[in-house]
Amino acid sequence: MPSDRTTELAALDHRHVWHPFTQQSTWTATKPLIIERAEGCWLVDVDGKRYLDGVSSLWTNVHGHRHPAIDAAVRAQLDRMAHSTMLGLTHPTAIELAARLVQCTPQGLDRVFYSDNGSTAVEVALKMAFQAQQQRGQTERTRFAALRDAYHGDTLGAVSIGAIDIFHAVYRPLLFDCVALPAPVEPGGAEEEECLKQGLELLDRHGHELAALVVEPLVQGAAGMKMHSIGFLRALLERAREHGVMLVCDEVAVGFGRTGTLFAMEQVGIAPDFLCLAKGIAGGYLPLAATLATESVYEAFLAAPEEAKQFFHGHTFTGNPLACAAALASLDLFRRADRLAQATRIADRLAAGLAPLRERPGVASIRQKGVMVGVDLVQQDGSPHPPARRIGAAVCMAAREHGVVLRPLGDTVVLNPPLALSAEEVDHLLDGLRAALKDVEGA
Ligand SMILES: *Cc1c(COP(=O)(O)O)cnc(C)c1O
Repeated sequence: MPSDRTTELAALDHRHVWHPFTQQSTWTATKPLIIERAEGCWLVDVDGKRYLDGVSSLWTNVHGHRHPAIDAAVRAQLDRMAHSTMLGLTHPTAIELAARLVQCTPQGLDRVFYSDNGSTAVEVALKMAFQAQQQRGQTERTRFAALRDAYHGDTLGAVSIGAIDIFHAVYRPLLFDCVALPAPVEPGGAEEEECLKQGLELLDRHGHELAALVVEPLVQGAAGMKMHSIGFLRALLERAREHGVMLVCDEVAVGFGRTGTLFAMEQVGIAPDFLCLAKGIAGGYLPLAATLATESVYEAFLAAPEEAKQFFHGHTFTGNPLACAAALASLDLFRRADRLAQATRIADRLAAGLAPLRERPGVASIRQKGVMVGVDLVQQDGSPHPPARRIGAAVCMAAREHGVVLRPLGDTVVLNPPLALSAEEVDHLLDGLRAALKDVEGA
């Protein structure tokens, strides 16, 4: 039985809170899961029930919740100052973090522009790329290219280069148009080859009018964990660069260890002009984002003040000190806790546990890169589920009964756990997924 407090909170939520990406008519007909505490990789609800955080609190949490080192860093910063502006002033934590980010990201990204979420990190890159091209005299470069099914955030610029119809179709009249390059669902096949051929043709045709090409490297997360090969991405990026197109890599989702390296672009071996970071940057603790740019981009903005060539953009809570302190502590932990080695162990154990599921009727395919996993669900006969069945959501609801929190993308169930899971916790996650599939499909 839920406690009186749970019932009261649920009623208040249903009366007043408007949730993101949520059909409120469904939400208010369902008992909400109210998370009050967290420890390590576990979330604890108001009634004390524990759930493994199988999607890292929306792909943000890296080292677990309430990590003593990050808690201490945030507390120490709180004892100095919670916030001071970056507009006209600066502060030690943001300065130190900028230097550390430059050190650990791919070569050539020497300038750090802070904001506070992934959408703005992308928005900043778009405006910077456009303005840099304009100020370099490349005035015909007024368009962008992006991969089909990309997700780069929910502000209008980010939506313009995104192409997930169910999220974005209604806003079409408000958006600028974008050259959409086809992208495969999985790496390495004939589909990818065809996508690459068409993508290269589009770049040859439109290269002269493009300010930048924007990509989520290796994994298109919100598209449903769609994946492409290193070779595919490298070929597109190289061709774009040949046409004088700037490269924006959106590592908001894949950054900070999720694909096996600290940044996905390390595997691709191309230094982009821009790198967008958010989600995991502060260990999943606080809102923070950064857009890194090369020195050459930065120089396009240098002029006498009266020429008005500076970057006219900034958010009030840019470079918040508490968030920067969490980010510094998180970066330390990658080294001290050998987090990347642990991420590899987690990925290997997930792969081994998922292998038998691939044979299961009802599972169309499973894609995995590092700790990022997408499990596509279909009916037993292989045909798609009717959308009204909301099969992904149904499986994730069932997983809660087995002590696992998951969130789907349509008919794809996503696993994307913190990089701090123990072997037993990986098994708990897999057991929860298997049990939920069985509950929903009765097989
Ligand atoms: C989540 C995400 C964003 C948007 O980040 P927000 O912090 O939600 O605004 C942008 N790009 C990618 C690849 C993402 O996964």
